[in-house]
Amino acid sequence: MPDEIWVCTDFSTSGTKALAALAAKLAESLGTETAAVCFRQHEPPNQSINYGTDTVYQISAEGSDYVLSKYLAELAEEYRPQLILFPSGGQFSIIAARTAALLKTGLTADCRDLYIDSDNLLRQVRPAYGGGIIAEIVCGTARPQMATVKTDSLQAVDSGSGRGRVVLYKPNELLIDPVEILEHKLILKGEDLSDANIIIAGGKGIGSRQGFQLLSDLAEKLGGAAGASRSAVDAGYADYKKQIGQTGSTVSPDLYIALGISGSFQHIAGMNRSKKVIAVNTDPKAPIFDYADIAIVAPWKDFVTGMLNTK
Ligand SMILES: Cc1cc2nc3c(=O)[nH]c(=O)nc-3n(C[C@H](O)[C@H](O)[C@H](O)COP(=O)(O)OP(=O)(O)OC[C@H]3O[C@@H](n4cnc5c(N)ncnc54)[C@H](O)[C@@H]3O)c2cc1C
Repeated sequence: MPDEIWVCTDFSTSGTKALAALAAKLAESLGTETAAVCFRQHEPPNQSINYGTDTVYQISAEGSDYVLSKYLAELAEEYRPQLILFPSGGQFSIIAARTAALLKTGLTADCRDLYIDSDNLLRQVRPAYGGGIIAEIVCGTARPQMATVKTDSLQAVDSGSGRGRVVLYKPNELLIDPVEILEHKLILKGEDLSDANIIIAGGKGIGSRQGFQLLSDLAEKLGGAAGASRSAVDAGYADYKKQIGQTGSTVSPDLYIALGISGSFQHIAGMNRSKKVIAVNTDPKAPIFDYADIAIVAPWKDFVTGMLNTK
């Protein structure tokens, strides 16, 4: 069906479910249907898993990003969707960029939100200019409109039970893949903030890289991950990939422990979906306490060494 809203997915992440729910909301605004698109290597383990989409297109081909993008572009040229959405990161960001180039359309990367405006155009909301502004981007004329979405910034809502019909799509021609994948390696294992249930985040108040090592030790003990404020990153105490906030990762763990973090709105923007927050700060007036379920006025080191010494 033309004009559908597609979610190109691997069905395996909780973020995909939230993205399908967002697609359903957009489809309601546009009065159209949703579809999930997956490749053979990403097929759902069970046909009934379609996250509430009306259709599932299964492209019966495998390969590298290079060939998968060509198959997706071919499918889009045949079925003419209005929008194609992808979860941000990993293989899907690459497929999205290649497919947009093949279809000669635009792509907005790492959106935090999407909505349909009064002209029925997709508004793609994302930070721009280093996080200095929140931009709303539209793709005026080229079609389809395409976006990758940081799914960790979406509300985890249920998109309902699926009625999805399955369309098996065989590409016109199986391409010779110029890329040979020798090995898949998960390099960020144990460091991925978006999947962590517990985050121990440190700010400028930690004072040194050695201090951050103690935070990492505590994170390891609790089975969580260490995060950081931008000031801590700028000071060289932690690497950028740990940064949480407007210009870093958006997280929503069960427990967020903020140590030596003042609580700027740019930092809060990245962690305010945490279920429970413990804040430790020597300043009783630190704004972070306004967001904390448990506020501890104390030096962070007392808290961390106490926790590390607890059996
Ligand atoms: C465009 C833009 C984008 C930005 N993006 C981000 C972002 O993504 N993420 C982000 O975090 N910031 C971001 N910032 C920066 C933000 O404005 C703040 O400067 C930053 O969050 C402050 O970090 P902090 O709380 O670690 O440092 P500070 O504000 O310096 O706070 C340090 C805190 O540590 C406490 N402290 C000191 N010693 C101890 C101790 N021994 N024990 C316990 N507490 C102690 C102090 O009381 C203080 O509250 C951005 C800014 C701009 C302009």
